[in-house]
Amino acid sequence: MATTLISDMPETATKEKIRLPGLSRAQISKHLEAIGIEPKKLKMRTSQIFQWIYNFGVSDFEQMTNVAKPLKAKLAEHFTLQRPEIVERQVSVDGTRKYLVRMAPGIEVESVFIPDVSKTGALCVSSQVGCTLTCKFCHTGTQRLVRNLTAQEIILQVMMTRDDLGEWPTTQENRKLTNIVFMGMGEPLYNTDEVAKAIDIMADETGMAIGRRRVTVSTSGVVPEIAKIGERSNAMLAISLHAANDKLREQIMPINKKYPLKELMEACRNYPGLSNARRITFEYVMLKGVNDSPKHARELINLLRGIPAKVNLIPFNPWPGSNYECSDWETIERFGVIVNKAGFASPIRTPRGRDILAACGQLKSESEKMRASEKRKMEKDGLAQP
Ligand code: SAH
Ligand code: SF4
Repeated sequence: MATTLISDMPETATKEKIRLPGLSRAQISKHLEAIGIEPKKLKMRTSQIFQWIYNFGVSDFEQMTNVAKPLKAKLAEHFTLQRPEIVERQVSVDGTRKYLVRMAPGIEVESVFIPDVSKTGALCVSSQVGCTLTCKFCHTGTQRLVRNLTAQEIILQVMMTRDDLGEWPTTQENRKLTNIVFMGMGEPLYNTDEVAKAIDIMADETGMAIGRRRVTVSTSGVVPEIAKIGERSNAMLAISLHAANDKLREQIMPINKKYPLKELMEACRNYPGLSNARRITFEYVMLKGVNDSPKHARELINLLRGIPAKVNLIPFNPWPGSNYECSDWETIERFGVIVNKAGFASPIRTPRGRDILAACGQLKSESEKMRASEKRKMEKDGLAQP
């Protein structure tokens, strides 16, 4: 009688290894326990491996020089340190980098790294694939929600950018990736738990050590989640305001019907840790003839009165099929002066990466393009119906 060894069975041979990068300390510990690390060494081993992953950014167990050979082999047998595939990487003339990463089949995510003229740089991460909210000026808003990203998938965006910039280990001087903004695809406060978990991982001092004050969560105004993210993560808050009266805000941001301005402002006033040193950023996209008059500016000042706030004026970034135009430069400046005179900093955000559709609100098309091409490939391979 022929016998089949378990190890010969195809499912065993192709069994997927667990990816460790992007996992929390507790998750790593659980996986180490499951492969038989002795309880009394578990904490030490977890810290060691956590540090190799997040401080040194290693992608091969061989690089873990303080781990004995047999353990390295065991780790490699069960786990992987590999990153997901970068489907597309584009670099703008202004140095902005956009990545399209395939986290899982059909789950493609965009992140944008924006180097500053100074020594800093921000990575704009996605929290969802697509978005359920349909803000009229936003490209992502035209893409249906595919799913929420996990904390691991959020962290992988940061790690892969560090890989690309060559910014390991964390202690390296003059790193450019200093800040994280949740301003990519999706609404982070419809995925609060995973976003908070991701912030815990990126802020860990023994790992990537990205301080919580350097992390900004941007929301279109999911009121009940605002206090929660503040308490859970201690991150900075940005509100996509874009209009200072309910009637107009409802027109361009349907979420305002559910959570009108009065409730939104109340949640802002109560944001944990709010102070003059920790102000809320209010984002205001400049839409020609829609929300950009001096009257609108005065409305905005009245709304923000008493809140430690700064206003970010964002020139509207067009995308294929968008129905708005960007306000004229003089109009934006005039608006900024009014807001500034009332005591609120009101910088105009320079559009970055427009040539590669990487600027605010432009994220989406590449994913769709890739999905279409992937679909064609699947059709060719007989895996999908044309
Ligand atoms: N969903 C979150 C975070 C992602 S959007 C939120 O809405 O806050 C990041 C920022 O880009 C938001 O302030 C959003 O309003 C703005 N934005 C969206 N579309 C834009 C466009 N076409 N031009 C400029 N800014 C845009
Ligand atoms: Fe979603 Fe934010 Fe775009 Fe609105 S602006 S559709 S909340 S990603």
